[in-house]
Amino acid sequence: MADAPILQEPWWWRDVRPAAEVGGNLPPETDVLVVGSGYTGLCCALELARAGTDVTVVDALAIGEGASTRNAGFTAGRAGVSKQIDLEAAVGAERAAAILNEADEAHEHLKDTLRVEAIDCDFSPIGRFVGAHTPAAYRKLERKMAEYNSDGRDLFAMVPPEDQGRYVDTRAYRGGMLIKNAGTLHPAKYHAGLAALCRKAGVRFVPKTRVLGIVREGAGFRALTERGDIAARRVALGTNGYTDKAAPWHQRRVIPISSTIIATEELPEDLVRSLLPAGGAVIDAKRVLNFARPTPDMRHILFGGRASFLNIPLLKKGEILRKDLGVFFPPLAAVKLTHVWTGQMAFTFDFLPKIGSHEGVDYAIGCNGGSGIVMMSWLGRKLAWRILGTANRPSAFEGLEFKTQPFYGGKPWFLPIVGNWYRFRDWLDMKRAA
Ligand SMILES: Cc1cc2nc3c(=O)[nH]c(=O)nc-3n(C[C@H](O)[C@H](O)[C@H](O)COP(=O)(O)OP(=O)(O)OC[C@H]3O[C@@H](n4cnc5c(N)ncnc54)[C@H](O)[C@@H]3O)c2cc1C
Repeated sequence: MADAPILQEPWWWRDVRPAAEVGGNLPPETDVLVVGSGYTGLCCALELARAGTDVTVVDALAIGEGASTRNAGFTAGRAGVSKQIDLEAAVGAERAAAILNEADEAHEHLKDTLRVEAIDCDFSPIGRFVGAHTPAAYRKLERKMAEYNSDGRDLFAMVPPEDQGRYVDTRAYRGGMLIKNAGTLHPAKYHAGLAALCRKAGVRFVPKTRVLGIVREGAGFRALTERGDIAARRVALGTNGYTDKAAPWHQRRVIPISSTIIATEELPEDLVRSLLPAGGAVIDAKRVLNFARPTPDMRHILFGGRASFLNIPLLKKGEILRKDLGVFFPPLAAVKLTHVWTGQMAFTFDFLPKIGSHEGVDYAIGCNGGSGIVMMSWLGRKLAWRILGTANRPSAFEGLEFKTQPFYGGKPWFLPIVGNWYRFRDWLDMKRAA
């Protein structure tokens, strides 16, 4: 019998599909217009609606069809925000400590929300293993661990090579770092839970309606969309890696980067448990990284990363990742795939998320890789507080300069060059360590 075709959509959509209902007609006016229906938009809209504000969420795609139902479902606090940079050197000791503490607060907030709001999304606070591909990477992780543990809670621990088998059965690593306060969830179920709360609170959803431009009108704004105009007192942008020319100032400040994930065919549970014994997330310490996790039922492995910096067909990216998976986990060398998908993340030029307002338009943008579940949910909520004027203190992410670069208009033409340079340096590190 011929193999079933590989579905080019998130494995998560087997359980919950983004809602494409075009119920919401665009009203002529709203108090707050939220652009983007991912975690940022929903967390902002929920907080506003519960405070009695009339909120309309518009999205160019179906509700949640952006990265928020496409990600790997890894959650963490401080380890999610400063992976790529020396935070203290970048923003000073005081701001660095405030950022790390706020990232932890954001993770606690996520956990509280799931519990208090009874959002069933297979959340498992199971920790995360960060694998060192070379002894030098291990030493770098040791230094990061010291920085992260500076709060005295010892939530990070080194795992020497001889103990790594407790977390992952691969020869690709030489030990690594354990993030104890981290977890995994089902991203589409989390998103659906938020959307249900929003609906209950009276948020109006208008999917499949791209905003084409936002102009000032009187004391408020007028947004021009594919389906007519809408007037709003305030506009909140939660467009992250999908930010387009409707917000050209922001578009020049974010680098959209796609990441691809594959799902294996159903595997014997024993095999999944032997490869990922702790059942949690595993991620490389490399510059161009790969990551792996079991699905919540422990019957499939999801494996992802930057398959290619070139614009090649999705199935080809899936095949590249399938081969990488076979090297990472040799027992899966001949595994078949059921799904391959991709999504867009937003990087900023200083690798830090941003919240603020530009010419009166409020925004929370820039997840910088895999920290968006926690950080964008949190910043979406903070965005609502800014609009309501109820924040009791500014976010540590406010007031950071939102930089662009000369000649950058939002299309990262330099990615294949920079990305392949990073990949080459990873390769060189491994050659030297061999
Ligand atoms: C493959 C992949 C794996 C990831 N893994 C993880 C992970 O394990 N853990 C983690 O924490 N994060 C992860 N992330 C990042 C995380 O998914 C994002 O940070 C998060 O979902 C961002 O939420 P958001 O609401 O800001 O943006 P999104 O969910 O991307 O939503 C933005 C929305 O804005 C809409 N939009 C844009 N422009 C317009 C316009 N002009 N008009 C109307 N609508 C518009 C888009 O259609 C889109 O739906 C991953 C991302 C990807 C792609």
